[in-house]
Amino acid sequence: MESDAVVRRVEQQRGFLTDLSMDLWNRPELGLAEHESSDRLREALRAEGFEVDAAIGGMPTAFVARYGDGGPTVGILGEFDALPGLSQEVAAERKPIAEGEPGHGCGHNLLGVAGVGAAIALKDAIDDGELDGSVAYFGCPAEETLVGKVFMAREGVFDDLDAALTWHPGRYNSPFMSSTLSLNSVRYEFSGESAHAAASPESGRSALDAVQLCNTGVEYMREHVPDDARVHYSIVDGGDAPNVVPANATVWYFVRAPERETVEDIQAWLDDIADSAATMTRTDVEREFLTGCHGVLPNETIGEVMSERMEGLDAIPYTDDDRAFAADLKASLSRETIDGQLADLPSDVFEEVDSHALYTEPLPAYDAGTTRSGSTDVGDVSRIVPLGQFWAATWPVGTNAHSWQAVAANGSFAAKGMVYAAKVLAGTAAELLSDPETLRAVREEFEENGGGGYETPLPESVASPPEPSD
Ligand SMILES: [Zn+2]
Repeated sequence: MESDAVVRRVEQQRGFLTDLSMDLWNRPELGLAEHESSDRLREALRAEGFEVDAAIGGMPTAFVARYGDGGPTVGILGEFDALPGLSQEVAAERKPIAEGEPGHGCGHNLLGVAGVGAAIALKDAIDDGELDGSVAYFGCPAEETLVGKVFMAREGVFDDLDAALTWHPGRYNSPFMSSTLSLNSVRYEFSGESAHAAASPESGRSALDAVQLCNTGVEYMREHVPDDARVHYSIVDGGDAPNVVPANATVWYFVRAPERETVEDIQAWLDDIADSAATMTRTDVEREFLTGCHGVLPNETIGEVMSERMEGLDAIPYTDDDRAFAADLKASLSRETIDGQLADLPSDVFEEVDSHALYTEPLPAYDAGTTRSGSTDVGDVSRIVPLGQFWAATWPVGTNAHSWQAVAANGSFAAKGMVYAAKVLAGTAAELLSDPETLRAVREEFEENGGGGYETPLPESVASPPEPSD
């Protein structure tokens, strides 16, 4: 079978993929500043004969690498951004390599590299006449800030695909069948007049007062929005000193809800509250819309193919050392954290999974029909083209993403989980390319569930992606 051949082709790249993922882990770069990581991935694909378009969607680190001539096209999404402040050694205790520096706390070094491995395996299969069709690898920057795929989608780069696949590092192997929340990310920058806060407060106009009133208004709005909506904020500039009336203050909001329409309704209310806060304090306000995204539209037909691929693979070849280190890392997690991370699982499976430090048996999708209370820009792609995603076990059981433990869970066992993920991606893509009936069923499900007719969440006034984080 073609898919078995592509699995072997992934296996042949094990050393190369492991080194590449370590290379990215060793130089963690934040969203939209992932220059070296993007270069490494792009070069790996260019060297294999992929045609690369760089700097797409107005982002220097975004790219697409295509291979093949006609036929159906499967896209593979890769991410490679790191998180601020999470620098960490491969150790079972908190030990930054460089205090305050970034770290790969969401395993996006693995995420990006597994897709490259799958894309190359598919390309080799196309070259050898085992597969007809095309493959496209998308280098998607800045997932953590929900930017990359949204700006790429607005440019139409996903429009010609028949299906898209991705995965995420996780605690066990399972299709990822839940939806996620739609989101807007918006800053309100208030400006007033500075003055001596004791000697001449009457000539000051406090931008911080405006921020406080805006947040208070939102607290009163909160009771009157749907229960499953989420509104959270952070005061990113609140003035400098108590004896200076703050002339400038900025508050940053995330608005989330399962339906995109609800996010937009709440957004309009929030805009009114910010304008009103400016009126009350005789300050001015400017709104900066940073980004927005859709919730994920899952595709169960692709999920079933992924499950079958997982069942057909050999167990991940963990060693006793891998299991011992994973057990040490798991021991550093609180019971509450572990319970939270395994909350999707039914109680009988929960106990079985929790009795291991690394759990590698494929599990069914227990999260089908649910909505996860996070957001991802994968959602936007899933509204344009049928999309399948899955979790692969790269972390000890119970590890929470964005923690130092997730950064430390790297090296030997994480790379093995990543190679497994590359095999599932390649096997699933091979099946979609070679079986028109499955591809037709995938499309039918997508259309039945309202896929297609994508509208960007970005207002027209947003000309370009936000500045890179620093
Ligand atoms: Zn992530």
